[in-house]
Amino acid sequence: MQNNPHTTLITPDAPLAASTHGGRAKCLQRLVRLDMPVPRTVALSFDAVHRIAADELPDIVAIVGQFEPDTLLCVRPSSEDPDWGGPGAVLNVGMNDARYAEFCDTLGQDAAAALYLRFVQSYSFHVARLDPDMFDGVAGDGAQGLRETLHAYEAETEERFPQDPAAQLAAVLRSMARAWEGTSARLLRQAKGAPADAGLGLVVQEMIPGLGQGECGSGVLQLVDQETGKPQITGRYLSQSQGRDALGAGTEALFLDKDKRGPSLAEAAPEAFADLKDHAALMRHKLREEMQVEFVIGNGRVHILDGVRVSRSSRAAVRIAVQLARDGIITPQEAVMRVDPHAVTELLHRQVAPDAVRDVLATGIGASPGAATGRIVFTSAEAQSSAARGEASILVRRETSPEDIRGMHAAAGVLTERGGITSHAAVIGRGLGLPCIVGASALRFVTGKRQLIAPDGRVLRAGDTITIDGGNGEVLAGEPATIEAALDDAFQTLMGWADEARDIGIRANADSPADAQTARNFDAQGIGLCRTEHMFFDPGRMTVMREMIFAQTSAGRAAVLERLLPMQRDDFVQLFRIMQGQPVCIRLFDPPLHEFLPNTKSGQRELAEALNLPVSDVVRRIEAMEEYNPMLGLRGVRLGVTVPEIYDMQARAIFEATLRASEDGEPVVPEIMIPLVSARREVELVKRRVDAVAAAVRAEKGKTFDFRLGVMVETPRACLRAAEFAPDTSFLSFGTNDLTQMTYGLSRDDAGRFMSDYVQQHVFPEDPFHVLDTDGVGELVQLGAARGRASNPGITLSICGEHGGNPESIAFCRTAGFDYVSCSPFRVPVARLAAAQLAIADKISGADADSATNCDTPQRG
Ligand code: PEP
Ligand code: MG
Repeated sequence: MQNNPHTTLITPDAPLAASTHGGRAKCLQRLVRLDMPVPRTVALSFDAVHRIAADELPDIVAIVGQFEPDTLLCVRPSSEDPDWGGPGAVLNVGMNDARYAEFCDTLGQDAAAALYLRFVQSYSFHVARLDPDMFDGVAGDGAQGLRETLHAYEAETEERFPQDPAAQLAAVLRSMARAWEGTSARLLRQAKGAPADAGLGLVVQEMIPGLGQGECGSGVLQLVDQETGKPQITGRYLSQSQGRDALGAGTEALFLDKDKRGPSLAEAAPEAFADLKDHAALMRHKLREEMQVEFVIGNGRVHILDGVRVSRSSRAAVRIAVQLARDGIITPQEAVMRVDPHAVTELLHRQVAPDAVRDVLATGIGASPGAATGRIVFTSAEAQSSAARGEASILVRRETSPEDIRGMHAAAGVLTERGGITSHAAVIGRGLGLPCIVGASALRFVTGKRQLIAPDGRVLRAGDTITIDGGNGEVLAGEPATIEAALDDAFQTLMGWADEARDIGIRANADSPADAQTARNFDAQGIGLCRTEHMFFDPGRMTVMREMIFAQTSAGRAAVLERLLPMQRDDFVQLFRIMQGQPVCIRLFDPPLHEFLPNTKSGQRELAEALNLPVSDVVRRIEAMEEYNPMLGLRGVRLGVTVPEIYDMQARAIFEATLRASEDGEPVVPEIMIPLVSARREVELVKRRVDAVAAAVRAEKGKTFDFRLGVMVETPRACLRAAEFAPDTSFLSFGTNDLTQMTYGLSRDDAGRFMSDYVQQHVFPEDPFHVLDTDGVGELVQLGAARGRASNPGITLSICGEHGGNPESIAFCRTAGFDYVSCSPFRVPVARLAAAQLAIADKISGADADSATNCDTPQRG
């Protein structure tokens, strides 16, 4: 048998690998190598199991012959990745009437009956596929229960319960092999990331009964708490039990270590407990992982049945990885590789507690992660009043507009009926770190009556408490328990290691001093996109902005802009000071002007009052500015060309702030970015005016400064014609939000309505506003980057659309040779970790490629 790799006794040198026999078999071999008290085990390869499913059985008698005569066996699944699951274990194979009689003498009747009963029951369900209800009439355990169960089996199958251990084992193996090949099992494991043709191995192991005389029982032990990752002996033990019974046993099970709450294994069997702790520590050290030990105590002696990677929360995953590296068990780089960047998002925000009951009202698109609980409010004004009363609120809107910014600042979370992952609420929510769900159209928004109606008919009114989970898009009734963000020392250490490995820059998109501070706290390497228009949404500035929009002449506009200048300058001084000499990329004004105009009657009346104009004039002017397709209309550089006073004012504010911030700190080198470019001449015109403003400020102040001018590449034409304007610019930053919108011809504000249908029907593999479409949009980005670089080899390349924080998109940018990615401040840690993993993975595969040519390198099993 030892020479047959498909049915192998697990010995230290048996030919075994996780890829051929599964993770459990491989782990057991490692435990055997460590000389742990592992019961004798035979491993069946994926191949062998596949053949068993097709009724080609291996030599069963030879397998049984590997064990002492009359040994009871158990069969457990061994898939390549334990997370892919597998059919349930079957214990006590080999129990029959003769063994029962013997066990009655050696272990006592109760124990003997329990062993047999367990096997008959699982054989009936898993192998004979009988209805679980058929044993409903069986009363009690013990000998009587066993008799009745056997009788019920025989009545149903019209056969005697199989008595031959080899025949029992063959039937168990066949049923487990077939269960794995079934459609539902395949779909289940594919949902967990398994490939369609993933194999199943099986292990056949000698049973240590856990029942009988002396201290007997079973349990599990691990050395860490799986929620926090902190060292703590955790698990349960149940006397006279098998399998994982201890975990479901409630109060009868013992604690492991001494515990005020009840009796413990440490007191009941101190030597066995000490042994177990030693085994667990050795496993951690040698298997280089926190393991859960499945054990049996048979007459006081410890047996190790299995070791399984401890399942863990995101915060525990970070602490465990860091602690393993601190203990010298793994390298810091391995620790970085072991934490899923997506999971890091959970650590930055408050979360719904994993064990909380979720009363889901409806699901929308999770647009900004974190959990927020509050009373429903339907207007921004109400959100502000709630905040003033110290009451948390959830701002519920059909969609948000710039006028809602104040309300969003005041609310604990935002819920909108419309919108997608790059809609206004989503972008602002992520920027503020504010939990946000958009596109929740499953809820009926009856804003007139100030009600939300859930699909099941429940009506929620203003003032009712709801919770939103911006991670998965669930709107929950009431206030489930939450856990706080966990930016602890372990997290900071891991991030430090990530930065050492990373080879692409990470900046943040930050519009306000608060955003910049968050970016700084998360160690962003500068600001990659400051959307300056957000600075005008402040109520004091909005009115001035509107006056500017209503000015009839260039001189009139310039006069109003004079009043905005000091405000903008102060904003920039603050940003520069917070970023302390790091680059700050400021985008010139981008949105269509009408976004600043009121769309309600009362807003229009207020504006008329402020401007001293009749309301009808105001309404007429607003109507005249309306565009059929504003996102493709007069916005971005088109405003810079046709209403150049705005950019003049902004350039002056940037330069004056540069001089001021450089007085008391490191010299600032601002970056100025022109949005929505599609033609070279646009860049020429803006550049000429910005240069002129710079020259004027230098002359007025008698001081010099540097700045860098760049282009935001967010129209397909800008990608195609990048070679034309690259020589005039220092950098190209790809705005993949608009670029995706324009490449697909798909509105970023409306796509949320049908995106889930599109993804479900595989029209798009993912929401392209969420994960960069590397085929189409990506091809344009690559073209633009290559053409820009060809005509200006020193040009800096980056991405600043929402994709910048997405691990898959970062991989794309890194391969394309970008200098940095820029993302919402709260995604900076995710991006830092993802980028580090890409660099480390490259190094590992490079080292593997080198070693593949080296014949002396030992093969790892
Ligand atoms: C973009 O279009 O990718 C971008 C970053 O700009 P905005 O989202 O402000 O349009
Ligand atoms: Mg844009």
